[in-house]
Amino acid sequence: MRLSKLFTKTSKTAPADEVSKNAQLLIRAGFIHKEMAGVYSYTPLGLKVLNKITQIVREEMDAIGCQELIMSGLQKKETWDATGRWDDNNVDIWFKSELKDGTKVGFGWSHEEPIIEMVKQYLSSYKDLPVNVYQFQTKFRNETRAKSGIIRGREFVMKDMYSCNASAEANQAFYDATIEAYNRIYDRLGIGEDTYVTFASGGAFTKFSHEFQTVCDAGEDYIYIHRGKNIAVNEEVMDDENLEKLGIKREELEKVKSAEVGNIFNFGTQKSEDTDFTFTDADNKKQFVHLSSYGIGTTRVMGVIAEKFSDEKGLVWPEAVAPAKVYLISIGGEAAIKCADDLYNELGAKGIDVLYDDRDVRPGQKFADFDLIGIPYRVTVSDRMLESENYELVARADGQQLLLTREQLLAKLV
Ligand code: ATP
Ligand code: MG
Repeated sequence: MRLSKLFTKTSKTAPADEVSKNAQLLIRAGFIHKEMAGVYSYTPLGLKVLNKITQIVREEMDAIGCQELIMSGLQKKETWDATGRWDDNNVDIWFKSELKDGTKVGFGWSHEEPIIEMVKQYLSSYKDLPVNVYQFQTKFRNETRAKSGIIRGREFVMKDMYSCNASAEANQAFYDATIEAYNRIYDRLGIGEDTYVTFASGGAFTKFSHEFQTVCDAGEDYIYIHRGKNIAVNEEVMDDENLEKLGIKREELEKVKSAEVGNIFNFGTQKSEDTDFTFTDADNKKQFVHLSSYGIGTTRVMGVIAEKFSDEKGLVWPEAVAPAKVYLISIGGEAAIKCADDLYNELGAKGIDVLYDDRDVRPGQKFADFDLIGIPYRVTVSDRMLESENYELVARADGQQLLLTREQLLAKLV
């Protein structure tokens, strides 16, 4: 990608009404555009990051045997009536509208009820189970407060996955496998060390659901972490009875601010009973489906990474989600430009993503934008360095600087 071809530009300032650090940095660096409070668009640069996050999540979902689909954003009232969740008294974040003929429709804030409606059409016998499906989809929620940038959107992207199983045991086994998959996802995203499997209220059998909470000052939750056991409890379940059930003591816990980056929920057969979601077992008897649902806010994850990996100069993307690996700069005359063009093509051919700052601007501006955009490595080619056949390689995270020959540089980057 050539910077001169990007229609977005970096900026020294963010909109005056933008109070969150993640959105301020992402807007200034040209990753997102603010439409209104809680509503953001993703620019080509921002989409690169979101796509990398998406791909990591997709690979781990596929690895445990899930299939990807995309469900509709517009939903029918009737689908939600069975569980009482069309009612604004039960769900207070609906955006609703109606068709020209007066038929009521809702903008999807979740897809639990719609997925039941869909799978019902195809499910008859136990031989059709399990069904594990997921999607990356824009959700609409009329959130009261939207002051946390892309950490809390009124429109945001969620990976939601739903599992349908024939027995409580199969449901629980898949639930446990998903916890492991989620741990791998957060590890790969670079936030594994700070992300805790957190016991929350709800859920069949164990009476707990699980949140994945990342320690983060910009988060909106508080959790109590147990460093020894690498688990946490949220505020809802922070009482003596629950702590005893979990075998942990109050004085072993540390209260921290956190952001919920994922949430999984075992419904058992409760939702299936509400919606008459059934199959016939081997004895031809009608049984209720065991259902679980599993969410990850992919745009929220991007916001949390932006918050955690940044400094006074700008963003510092972990390599796995960075929009490119290398930020290439040329300084000086034609020889340096020709050499940078060459290197850009060579790295591209070797599969290395390069953001090439080929703009006709001062070097100081290029260096400042490298820091703001937060690409892991900066490679500088200048007339002077070419005389000694050297390239400068600087790491964004720790500022480490090396002078390398072309061969050494390629060995380092490829
Ligand atoms: P919260 O308590 O933060 O409102 P929630 O319990 O409503 O979250 P779920 O309905 O379980 O969240 O959604 C699954 C995941 O989607 C969450 O774990 C979070 O990562 C993400 N998410 C939820 N609401 C938002 C939002 N308004 N903006 C961005 N991501 C969100
Ligand atoms: Mg919510």
